Amino acid sequence: MELRDKFGRKISYLRLAVTDRCNLRCQYCMPAHGIEIVDRKELLSYKEMYRITRVLSELGVNKVRLTGGEPFVRKDFVKFLESLTFNDKLDEINITTNGALISNHIDKLEELNINAINLSIDSLQNEKFAQITRRDVFKNVFDTFEKLEQSNLKLKLNVVVQSGFNTDEIIDFIELSKEHDIAVRFIEEMPFNGKGQRKMAEKWDYKKIFSHIENHYTEIERLQSKKSSTSINYKIPTYKGSFGIIPAFTRSICGDCNRIRITATGMFKNCLFDGGVFNIRDFIRDGASDDDLKELFISTVHHKPENGFIAEAARGKDVSESMSTIGG
Ligand code: SAM
Repeated sequence: MELRDKFGRKISYLRLAVTDRCNLRCQYCMPAHGIEIVDRKELLSYKEMYRITRVLSELGVNKVRLTGGEPFVRKDFVKFLESLTFNDKLDEINITTNGALISNHIDKLEELNINAINLSIDSLQNEKFAQITRRDVFKNVFDTFEKLEQSNLKLKLNVVVQSGFNTDEIIDFIELSKEHDIAVRFIEEMPFNGKGQRKMAEKWDYKKIFSHIENHYTEIERLQSKKSSTSINYKIPTYKGSFGIIPAFTRSICGDCNRIRITATGMFKNCLFDGGVFNIRDFIRDGASDDDLKELFISTVHHKPENGFIAEAARGKDVSESMSTIGG
């Protein structure tokens, strides 16, 4: 038994949001007052998340990314991580985090053999960072960056490219990969932040980001990436690290998608752009067995939309919710 959609794509990667809460208020992600968070009992419990992951791993999911909201905001998140490491069907456990709360946990993350940390950091300048995140935590996040860089954990930096705001730092970020073995990934900004679709001054899409970089360097090497990679990857030949661009909004790499998402309230999503297919939390709380869950996962994945445009069209309205709700 495995998860395969009608286009023949095998699903092996789960993005699981462990909470909808976040300690930052990034401008492009949510309004200053935050999003409307749900009642705690509406969130999946760790026990439920563990079970869902186990059932999915029995259907071939071997990679899990824990995200949110900010995963480290949820109490006992590290204990939950530890429990997941006992599932030997999982080859990779990755975490996406803003890094502000993790510096005391880095040794433990190494000990647990967490595969990679994706650290979100949209500016290397204290003031600008504070403007973007609406919180004064740059020092914490940069300390985390340095500690992670010294650790055995694979490190990727997520940089949301915000027109006229941090576009002047694209090259500074690539320069970080000169001496550090890190992967910097530039993410196309998606125009939704929990308030509806926003108008953006100028679209910095994949092409514009790449041509900006191309104008700066004489030699850029295209890297071979895994078929299902979310980013198109490059490096400057003499640099230790690499950089990549994630076409999150232009959606040019959906053809090789191997991912599903589960939100913090248990909504199963075949695609970031769909409106949610069914609520697993309710299904579990109504007494579903593991076999019931498997049957449901298999039939739902079968109908995974071909790409993000089709998913968005099928939901009948534009995506407007925050990535903190969707699970970034
Ligand atoms: N709190 C964690 C973090 O900051 O990494 C995990 C959740 S966050 C929603 C996951 C990723 O989504 C972050 O890298 C964030 O920058 C990105 N993100 C949020 N809203 C976005 C948007 N409108 N467009 C592009 N990326 C976005």
